[in-house]
Formats: sequence, structure tokens, C-alpha cells
Amino acid sequence: MTFQISVLKFQVSLRTRFALGLGAVLLPFLVAAVVGQFYLLPQLIEPLEDIVREFAEKLEPVTHLQKSLLQAAMPVNDYLIHGDPDERRQFAQLHQRVERAFEEASPERFTLAEERTLIRAARADWAQALPLGEQLLRQPDPVGNAAVARDMEQFDAHIERAVSALDEAHGHFHQVIEQSLAQASAARTGALWATFAAFVVAATASLVAGVVLARSVTDPVDTLRQGAARLAEGKLSHRVAIRRHDELGELGAAFNTMAGQLEADQAALEQLATHDGLTGLYNHRTFYVLFGDELARAQRFKRPLSLLLLDIDHFKCVNDMHGHQAGDVVLKGLGELLGREVRAVDRVCRYGGEEITIILPETDLEAAASFAERLRAAVEAQSFDVDAGASLRITVSIGIASWPAHADNAQALVAAVDVAMYAAKQRGRNLVICYEPAPVQPVTPG
Ligand code: GH3
Ligand code: MG
Ligand code: MG
Repeated sequence: MTFQISVLKFQVSLRTRFALGLGAVLLPFLVAAVVGQFYLLPQLIEPLEDIVREFAEKLEPVTHLQKSLLQAAMPVNDYLIHGDPDERRQFAQLHQRVERAFEEASPERFTLAEERTLIRAARADWAQALPLGEQLLRQPDPVGNAAVARDMEQFDAHIERAVSALDEAHGHFHQVIEQSLAQASAARTGALWATFAAFVVAATASLVAGVVLARSVTDPVDTLRQGAARLAEGKLSHRVAIRRHDELGELGAAFNTMAGQLEADQAALEQLATHDGLTGLYNHRTFYVLFGDELARAQRFKRPLSLLLLDIDHFKCVNDMHGHQAGDVVLKGLGELLGREVRAVDRVCRYGGEEITIILPETDLEAAASFAERLRAAVEAQSFDVDAGASLRITVSIGIASWPAHADNAQALVAAVDVAMYAAKQRGRNLVICYEPAPVQPVTPG
């Protein structure tokens, strides 16, 4: 693959083009996946993780502390109801549990000042409740004692305030959790939109890449298909325009080379089939085709048409005296001379060995006779170089037949012109003779 900035010319193979196209189709989805994995997903998950962390670090120790406080209040209350001394031991145990719970929920672990204040308040209440509780448990006769009952109310009030303070702290945690939830919800909505936008961008990019890739292949293939159809119709001059530097460009160039070769071959074949190899004049078969066409046209438009038949005089002697190669040179030279003398619309054909026909459209008998005489004189005046330094001269006998004067079909006109040329030979050669129909013979009764 090469890229030349100077001429802005890409040279990308079809294989590379497909690989790039496939990459362009897949890349947006890959980007969307990476963005989702490393940007959107953390955004979505982080607030939820915060909630879990908040719960684990703050909410859970505070709940545990509340539970411990309420449990610690139980033995004191039970002691006042039943007076069981074992409640002292239980309170001592629960007291230790409350202390540990306060350590776990120490104010330093909380970020908000309100939370810390509330934890400290709870601790202060506990600090006041604790001696009261111990004092109550030391009472020898607590059941039904009014003074003890008042202290008990104070103890319970402290515990209740401590628990309420912790409840309030809970409220703060809930606020924080709700904020995190709102953040998570916003992140989720954002992530959904971002995912949707990424999908739309990826799908659009994939679609565009797909269409560009497909068209970069289907367009030249279509051009080639149409080109092949034109060739099949016989329009060999058709060429395809695929200005690309990949396999399809090469295919287009090969197609054009093939079409050029076919066209050249067909032209060569046509030349071989319609022209005489020695003189380059139209051949016998083509003469009849051309003459048939010209006669039909002349008859349709009612225009005159003349035919000349030209035969070299004593050509056998040329061959005998100078050899057949010299004869060939003369024939070729005569063809060239005739080609120079005739009009563009006239057709010069090699009818046979040294016999040449000339079709003269739009030419009546009189004009044809004067043209034939000019030709005869030109041939007589021409010398042919048959060998190094050797040249020879020839003469020709020319017969003329015309439509509508002499016949109304091609075969009859050819026969007539043959008769006229034969008459020229008879009358001494180097002559131009117009066809003269034989006089009508009187029919002698028997
Ligand atoms: P005339 O027509 O005047 O009666 O005499 P001629 O000698 O021309 O007549 P004839 O038809 O007997 O001879 C024609 C000769 O033309 C015979 C043949 O050898 C020669 N000829 C025909 N085709 C060619 C050719 O292609 N090359 C050469 N060198 N000779 C040819
Ligand atoms: Mg002859
Ligand atoms: Mg002849």
C-alpha cells in the first residue's frame, strides 16, 4: 500500500480495502465497548459502591451501637422488676459491648460534623446513663422502690436520647445514601444516553463504512459487467473507465487491453475477408456486396450508376518476360494509381486476376466514359518500376455499363460490362468501350 500526498493518489489493494472497511465497521463498536467498560460502567457502579461502603463503615456500627445500648438497658430494667442480682453481671457484659460499639462507631470515622456531634451526644448520654445504671443495680431492694423508679426514668431517658441521637445520625446517613442513589440514577441515565449515542454513532459509522466499501466494489464491477455486455453486443470499441489502483483497476485495464486486441483482430479479419492481399483493393466477394448496395440505392433514389471493368492488355507477356513478381508489382502499382484517380465515393475492386472493377455512384454513361478515358490515358502514361532500374509500361482495356441505360440488375450489368471490355479487346485494346446492346434480330419465319 502506498500513499502519495503530492498527487493525492491512493494505492490500496482490494484485500486491504476490505480489511480497512471491516475495521471501520467494527472499530466504532470496539470504541463503544471500551468507553462503556472503562468510563460508563465505573460511573454507574461507583455511587453504588459508595452506598455499600457507607453502610459498611457507618450505618452498620451505628445500628450495632443502638442495639447494644438498648440491650444494656434491659438488665437494669429487669433488676428493678425482679431484683435478680445476676442482672449486674449481664449489665457488666453489655456495658463492655456498648464500649466496644462506641469504639467501632468513633466520631473520627464520620465525615460530616453533624454526624460526629450526634455520636458524641450519644456517648455523653451513655456516659451519664452508665453510673446511673450501676447505681441502680447496686440498690439492695429495687422492686417497688419509688426513688429508684425515678432514677430508672433518668437512666432510660439517657439511653433513649442516646438512641435518638443515633437515629438522627441514621437520618444523615440516609441523606448521604439518597444523594449517592440520586447520583447513581443520574449516572445511569447519563450512561444510557451515552450508550445510545455511542450506538447511533457506531451504527452510522458502520453503515457509512459498509456502503462506501460495498460501492467501491459494486460500482467498478457494474462498469465491467456493462462493458462485457457491450462487447458481447459486438461494440468492440467500448472501453471501461475504472481509474483505480487496485485489483479492480487492473481488471479494468486488462479488460480494455482485451477489448483493444479484439477490436484490432476483428479489423484485421475484416480487412482479410473484404480486401485483396496483393493490391489492398476490395476483393471479388466484397465487390458484389458493394455493387448490390449501390445499385439498390441508385434505383431507390433514381440516380445513375456506372460500372467499369478494366483488364490489363497482354499481361501474360509481362509475366513471361519479366517474371510473376514483376507482374505483381505492376498489379499493385495499378491498384495504387486507380486509388489516386477515383473519387472518395467510388469503389475499386479486384474482380479477378488482372481484372479490376470500379463502381461509380451518381455517374451516368457519358461521365463514366470520360472518366474511363482519363484512367486509360493515366495508365498508359504511367511507368512501373519492376526491378532495380527497369521499368515498363502497360495499357488497359476498359468496358462500361450503366444503370438505367443497360440493365436493371447486378448480374446483368456485370455481364454487360464484361461484353463491353471484351469488345475493347476485340477492337485492338487500350480502348474504352461502352456496352451496346445487340440489335434485335428479325425473326425469319421458318
Ligand atoms: P489480354 O487480356 O490482353 O487478352 O491478354 P492477357 O495476357 O492479359 O490475357 P490472359 O487472361 O490470357 O492472361 C491474364 C494473365 O494474368 C494470366 C495470369 O498469369 C496473369 N495473372 C493473373 N493474376 C495474376 C497475379 O496475381 N500476378 C501475376 N503476376 N500475374 C497474374
Ligand atoms: Mg488481360
Ligand atoms: Mg484477363
